[in-house]
Amino acid sequence: MTIRELLKAKLFKARVVGFGCWLLCVGVIFLDVPERYKAWVLIPTLGFVGAVLYMFYCVRCPKCGARIGQAMMGMRKSNFCPSCGVGLDTRA
Ligand SMILES: [Zn+2]
Repeated sequence: MTIRELLKAKLFKARVVGFGCWLLCVGVIFLDVPERYKAWVLIPTLGFVGAVLYMFYCVRCPKCGARIGQAMMGMRKSNFCPSCGVGLDTRA
């Protein structure tokens, strides 16, 4: 497994959790949920924020430990770690 595949797997899991939480938020906001359950929107909101923070701060280069989740998600796809320069197609 390459470093890129490892990082993509982590980002995919976080995106699935974040998207699921976002769907729950939208569902609670736009569907006719009884008023007393509206406060439950906080739980998926926290899940969504947690998924985003995980992608930014917890997806790290396995070689140097630098946070590269943001670089992996950006418009310009990087082929190496911006901190240590290891190629993302190197075996992890
Ligand atoms: Zn690195």
